[in-house]
Amino acid sequence: MKSTPYLITNPRFQSGGAIPQYSVATLIIGSGAAALNAALCLWESEVRDIVIATEQWGGGTSNNAGSDKQTYYKMSLDPAVADSAFEMAADLSRGGAMHGDIALCEAQHSLQAFYNLVRLGVPFPYNQYGSYPGYKTDHDPRARATSAGPLTSHLMFECLARKVKEYGIPVHNGIVIIELLTRQTPEGKEITGAIGIDKAKTAEPGNGLVVYNAVNVILATGGPAGIYRNSVYPESQTGSIGMALKIGAKAQNLSISQFGMASVKFRWNLSGSYQQVVPMYYSANQYGNDEQEFLNVHFPDKETLFSAIFLKGYQWPFDPKKVKNYGSSLIDLLLQQETAAGRRVYIDFTRNPEGFSLDKLKPEARDYLERSDALAETPIERLKLLNPPAIDLYQSHGIDITREPLEIAVCAQHNNGGLTGDIWWESNIKHLFPIGEVNGSHGNTRPGGSALNSGQVGGIRAAMKIKADYQLSVVGCQLSVASFTVRIERMLTGAGSLHYRDVLVELQQRMSDHGGPVRDAETIADQVRQAWCLWHRLNTELKAVEPSELVAAFRVFDLCLTHAVYLEAIAEYLNKSEDKNQDILAINLDENLHVQKEWVPIRPIPKEEMWFEQVWKEFRLKRNHTENHRDTTESHRE
Ligand SMILES: Cc1cc2nc3c(=O)[nH]c(=O)nc-3n(C[C@H](O)[C@H](O)[C@H](O)COP(=O)(O)OP(=O)(O)OC[C@H]3O[C@@H](n4cnc5c(N)ncnc54)[C@H](O)[C@@H]3O)c2cc1C
Repeated sequence: MKSTPYLITNPRFQSGGAIPQYSVATLIIGSGAAALNAALCLWESEVRDIVIATEQWGGGTSNNAGSDKQTYYKMSLDPAVADSAFEMAADLSRGGAMHGDIALCEAQHSLQAFYNLVRLGVPFPYNQYGSYPGYKTDHDPRARATSAGPLTSHLMFECLARKVKEYGIPVHNGIVIIELLTRQTPEGKEITGAIGIDKAKTAEPGNGLVVYNAVNVILATGGPAGIYRNSVYPESQTGSIGMALKIGAKAQNLSISQFGMASVKFRWNLSGSYQQVVPMYYSANQYGNDEQEFLNVHFPDKETLFSAIFLKGYQWPFDPKKVKNYGSSLIDLLLQQETAAGRRVYIDFTRNPEGFSLDKLKPEARDYLERSDALAETPIERLKLLNPPAIDLYQSHGIDITREPLEIAVCAQHNNGGLTGDIWWESNIKHLFPIGEVNGSHGNTRPGGSALNSGQVGGIRAAMKIKADYQLSVVGCQLSVASFTVRIERMLTGAGSLHYRDVLVELQQRMSDHGGPVRDAETIADQVRQAWCLWHRLNTELKAVEPSELVAAFRVFDLCLTHAVYLEAIAEYLNKSEDKNQDILAINLDENLHVQKEWVPIRPIPKEEMWFEQVWKEFRLKRNHTENHRDTTESHRE
């Protein structure tokens, strides 16, 4: 491939001292599906002064999460289904709180992103004519969903990673970025780089600090998994949105998250066939005694209860609208209440719920099991007939569900909100591009599978913008890390008594009890106050940490700030007036870390005339790359 004048294949290493400094035009933070696609998009468009810095190659949600049928959402490729980017954008944003122009970009690029994954080898099923069939997922009227099986995002990671390695894109593995660096310009703040810690070198001189001077930073650090006690995010995912909030990056819709039932020992969503076989639910005290089928008293009869359990298979995420009339989400609510009361909850496939008989199943459930040849006596026998890999999956993680119950909880799975980006996924901090789950493009109702699509599209859009406008080299500045080394010194010698691990326990507990699926408008203000109090204490009363604990302690700073800002957003949302339902709650921190909140009306889906000659002219003049949210009343300029 042709090289560009500024091309370097390895980031420039500037100093050989205790604190290495690198200069690179574009730093990509993270190595999930979003980050890797961004790197490939840049590389393949011959923008090669890039480096990926990641805390753990192979870590994160994309590579390690899955579900019954993990979904990718895109425009329909079913030859018999009429679809358009406009209609998909309308469906993406139908529930409100999503900008129409962003939805249009996600729809417009969805096939480009999808076919790129096909090209790289992700095995999405197709027929002999090359048609990719779709199925309906939640909030999806057009059967746009597809899947490569339970591990779609893992397969995406594998295929993207293989290409990254094949191209030889530089990867700095084991680097946890802990601070983003900015400078003030007349146009506002812009990014200048980042500081990281090399996990393997915290005990060496310099404590593993690494500095990146960069023109652009693509932030692809995933969802805020670490702020929750009950989480179905993989263990290797923590999230790092706090460092972006700290530099004043705007966020939006932080209060909108997805929660659902999952096993806690091995983190896995209990959707689909796990519920369709109607297992027994019970709770016990902390020692495993005093077994109670706690759901029974809350349902009018057994038929209604069994039906709600069965429906949970299709209706996995907690949805307040499905609580009334003994809907499937009532089960999540009761489960949450039970765990909040200090009891442990289990799902048992070896036993039927009390009073169960196949005759007591409502027609929908009975027909389903009958047509699937799965009308056996116990849940585990039904599961063996319906979906044996569902049993093998737990077996491969050392759990035998043919013999033992699974401990469960209502867990955080996905944050629809996150950092704000424009139509190029660029933040209000110039040259900072949040993509993937750390970007909060989704609104109130995100069709299942649109998270994976959005992550891929974000990388495409950021790469387009960087190629068109931001191909600049770093002008040999060496960032000062003096204040940072002082901070590390303080952490290593702190005389306080507050252990960072206790802070983590407190903040995770607060988020799962008050910022999870059940929220209380009456008490939330007090939780916000306690969250900021904890942040203040963390900054003033920290007990000294060992060098080997530095990374974990820095993470707690990030998570503590994050949980305070998320609770602020939740509090504002709980107290909003009804007329704000469609609007977006924007939130950011000022220089003094004071919270600024604003309800932003949504931008509509642009309905511009697609006149080829006109678009071509603008394309040649490169206006289509530099324009942002176009005022649609302003017609095409010369
Ligand atoms: C159980 C489960 C099921 C799901 N099912 C679906 C589904 O069916 N369809 C769908 O669309 N979505 C689904 N999702 C959501 C989707 O999988 C995620 O939103 C998506 O994979 C996130 O990708 P990402 O690249 O943004 O982040 P991740 O894949 O989480 O990657 C984040 C990366 O950043 C790195 N990182 C984090 N912080 C730092 C730091 N400070 N310094 C350096 N590196 C850092 C991590 O190590 C990791 O490499 C599901 C999620 C879960 C948990």
